[in-house]
Amino acid sequence: MARKFDAIVIGTGQSGPSLAQRLTNEGMKTAIIERKLFGGTCVNVGCIPTKTLVASARAAYMARRGHDFGVVIDGGIHVNMQKVKARKDGVVKQSNDGVTRWLKNMPNLSVYEGHGQFTAPDTVRVNGELLQAEKIFINTGARAYIPEMPGLDQVDYLTNSSMMDVDYLPEHLLIIGGSYIGLEFAQMYRRFGSRVTVIEKGDRLISRDDEDVSQGVKGILENEGVGVRLNADCLSVEGRDGQVAVHVQCKEGAPEVVGSHLFLAVGRRPNTDDLGLEAAGIETDPRGFIVVDDGLQTNVPGIWALGDVNGRGAFTHTSYNDYEIAAANLFDNDPRRVSDRILAYALYIDPPLGRAGMTEQQVRETGRKALIGKMMMTRVGRARERGETQGFMKVLIDAETKKILGAAILGIGGDEIIHSLLDVMYAGARYTVIQRAMHIHPTVTELIPSMLGDLTALE
Ligand SMILES: Cc1cc2nc3c(=O)[nH]c(=O)nc-3n(C[C@H](O)[C@H](O)[C@H](O)COP(=O)(O)OP(=O)(O)OC[C@H]3O[C@@H](n4cnc5c(N)ncnc54)[C@H](O)[C@@H]3O)c2cc1C
Repeated sequence: MARKFDAIVIGTGQSGPSLAQRLTNEGMKTAIIERKLFGGTCVNVGCIPTKTLVASARAAYMARRGHDFGVVIDGGIHVNMQKVKARKDGVVKQSNDGVTRWLKNMPNLSVYEGHGQFTAPDTVRVNGELLQAEKIFINTGARAYIPEMPGLDQVDYLTNSSMMDVDYLPEHLLIIGGSYIGLEFAQMYRRFGSRVTVIEKGDRLISRDDEDVSQGVKGILENEGVGVRLNADCLSVEGRDGQVAVHVQCKEGAPEVVGSHLFLAVGRRPNTDDLGLEAAGIETDPRGFIVVDDGLQTNVPGIWALGDVNGRGAFTHTSYNDYEIAAANLFDNDPRRVSDRILAYALYIDPPLGRAGMTEQQVRETGRKALIGKMMMTRVGRARERGETQGFMKVLIDAETKKILGAAILGIGGDEIIHSLLDVMYAGARYTVIQRAMHIHPTVTELIPSMLGDLTALE
């Protein structure tokens, strides 16, 4: 006999808990299932711990740069990795405890700790018990993708999850994957004191961004001594005297790199392979992501998929926005859609990259008439005062409608400043609204009106 609920949520990522709160608030008897850590990736092995580690790395970086600011530090600067990890663990624990307490004390919610698996379109099995509901929400997230690579079964490697247990300084960290996760760890470990080499298959880092952004990011990393090997198009690995050798076929440089530790950051795969989707008839795409419509419903009536698992976003904010969309459609008679949102994300190297909307390349591909504005951070007084002038700001405008199409801010505060453009994009206002706004001095944001006052045609 199955235990009956009004709704079941599988997974406690960035949409599941908030959705459970809304479902129970609406008087629905709800079950939530978590097989590992409450709060999922972001809280335990993703955003929160990495940004906490980035903060430690920045402290080390600024300490080393003390002399640039007239600050004298007698003696050397060392990083105590056990203390770095302890600080990170403390911040993570606070968040994990918060979600755990929240869920376990939520009225009308039954919390199951175990692996959930569909046995029918309205039934999920957990710990041998069957749960049944008319509405089921999947928020099972994703995990590190482990590629088929010759030799990988013969060597030890780290992923974003196992990196969380590292409380020592790798002598030479080899990172396969030149995208967001890999690059954040690359700079962080370089600042902690490791040698670091990033090995990337493509011909540039973060290849979905514009060429100038990729180059800017590469320059920032290389200025701190991170090695970058591009065009590593034929990868294999091999253990060698307690070290690990990565064979790369790069257009330039030696054919292999040898390091003490290997970290794989080559993408994420959805947690759908062990969810019993076939028992429910839920459709996935060739990469295993659950196919959803613009309102996040799967092909099976009564089943929704939210967060990384639906392949429509890979961020905490997209997962949370999925919860808002599902709840608005279910309870508020508000037909919010995934396609209403504007792409936005940040890369938390230091200085960070904030991105919104289309890239320059994408704008070009549309063939529309457009304007472009670009300003180097060396021109920004606030950046000069703080001794952090790497990077640039760039904005793309539709020449006819005068609306902002996209922006990239690679530079100090870029992750925050990008919102001043993003919000105007959501408002659907013309760029001239910001151009005429009086911004506060001295800030980086005060130069955005200046940049907008100096637009040229995108050739
Ligand atoms: C290193 C790293 C850094 C990141 N940094 C950022 C960042 O700075 N900003 C940002 O926006 N995003 C970042 N992300 C991405 C972000 O963590 C995810 O997009 C976010 O967590 C949303 O995930 P989710 O809601 O889909 O599910 P998740 O957070 O992945 O949670 C899914 C949960 O479901 C559980 N689960 C899975 N299968 C089952 C099952 N069958 N039964 C029961 N439970 C199950 C899992 O144990 C997990 O707890 C980062 C990711 C990584 C790996």
